[in-house]
Amino acid sequence: VPVSPSNEQTSTPSLTPVNIPEVVPPSETLPPTDTSTPTPQPEPAYVPPQYLMDVTVDYDAHIIDVIQQITYTNSTGQKLETFTLAVVPNQTSGVFELQKITIDDKDPSKYELTGQKLEITSEKYLAPGASTQIDITYRLNLPAAEQGDPNIVRPAIFGYTSRQTNLTDWYPMILPHDPKTGWLLNKPGLYGEHLVYPRADYDVILRFRDIIIPVVAASGELQYIDSIGHYILKNGRAFAISMSRDYQTFSAEVDGVTITSYFFPIMNISGQAALDATVQAYQTYTGLFGPYHHKTLAVVQGDFNDGMEFDGLYFLSNAFYNLYDGSPKNYLILVAAHETCHQWWFGRVASDQANEPWMDEAISTYCEKLFYETNYPELVQWWWSYRIDYYQPSGYIDVPLYDSGGFTPYTNAVYRMGAHFYQDLRTEIGDEAFFAFLKDYSTQMDGKIATSADFFRILRQHTDKDLTHLLAEYFRNPK
Ligand SMILES: [Zn+2]
Repeated sequence: VPVSPSNEQTSTPSLTPVNIPEVVPPSETLPPTDTSTPTPQPEPAYVPPQYLMDVTVDYDAHIIDVIQQITYTNSTGQKLETFTLAVVPNQTSGVFELQKITIDDKDPSKYELTGQKLEITSEKYLAPGASTQIDITYRLNLPAAEQGDPNIVRPAIFGYTSRQTNLTDWYPMILPHDPKTGWLLNKPGLYGEHLVYPRADYDVILRFRDIIIPVVAASGELQYIDSIGHYILKNGRAFAISMSRDYQTFSAEVDGVTITSYFFPIMNISGQAALDATVQAYQTYTGLFGPYHHKTLAVVQGDFNDGMEFDGLYFLSNAFYNLYDGSPKNYLILVAAHETCHQWWFGRVASDQANEPWMDEAISTYCEKLFYETNYPELVQWWWSYRIDYYQPSGYIDVPLYDSGGFTPYTNAVYRMGAHFYQDLRTEIGDEAFFAFLKDYSTQMDGKIATSADFFRILRQHTDKDLTHLLAEYFRNPK
């Protein structure tokens, strides 16, 4: 069911990257000795928001108490008075309990929490380049997240099941800021993802009230263990945590990165296969797109349907573990290839998941093909027919989430036609230009929020082929 088009974000499909030209004193912009050649503007300085979170978990009571501090540096080039944060857990009443909020140690002149939106107004303006500190104390009363029919309801990830607790999009988060339209907070859709994540640094302390502490999978590197976990994630998009008393683990070390598979008992074979596929995918994509920026990557068996990417952590559905048949021809392996790819196209290069969902989903689906092509070339034809063409996909790939007409038309257009677009583009411009483009696109947009305009701008730097026909076939609004 399409979400109401009254969402104001649907009318502004392009998002300006969060990097804004830095304010330079006039004396530096005009060198006194030479005024004939304009000085190129340096790349704008973006200072990632700093999250400090002290998290106390009562695992058995399903209660999380958080003292959170965000240090936000104004890189917008504008004076800011109001700060809008996303508080996704507050979409469900009774889950998010706000206890205290201050800005620079003072009460805000006003604040309002409505649904997923928290608006904080400061007593005084924050000048461009200046920093402010937002302190929020809150409690999460976690919801039970038992999975319903995946054709009717979205995967329930946040919350607890009888054997797992997942903290995903669980904290008040800073949004990207567009100089024209302000803070970018998309409305949630009935399926798919809606948030846009600016790059940020996370420093998270995790304590437990319980005597028996669960095994923890988290985004970020664990600094020490002494009944207190201390996790660091630099230049991350989101900080996710998954906990269970039942987790077993297998780990592998690749290029100094520790990849760990977390799975439930008696799933050793599937747990090992998920790890092996992630290692293979990791090696395939570092070769194609450039390095992975974190020290750890967690692969977690999720007690819900479907896979889901976060930064430094992704989930694979329980169902894939149960159905794993020991071969590479199944959803455990192909979705591992997909979600690992999101570490580049979501993590390294972010995009607007609601208004331009093809930006990360089309390439992550095509990555599955690249994974098979590299590691199991004899299975490429199987992949096309089993994963893509069986569904007889159709539709324009640049459809916003809200206009996509239901989960199956959405995935058929954005994911499956998206994979065909990448294959046809590759055939049209040739392997050399295609892979040079992907690596350059990943490098130029590293740490930023990419738009389709960035995609086509960088593509044009790698080919002068006439793509009119190709783009008209796949895009509602060809560039
Ligand atoms: Zn995906």
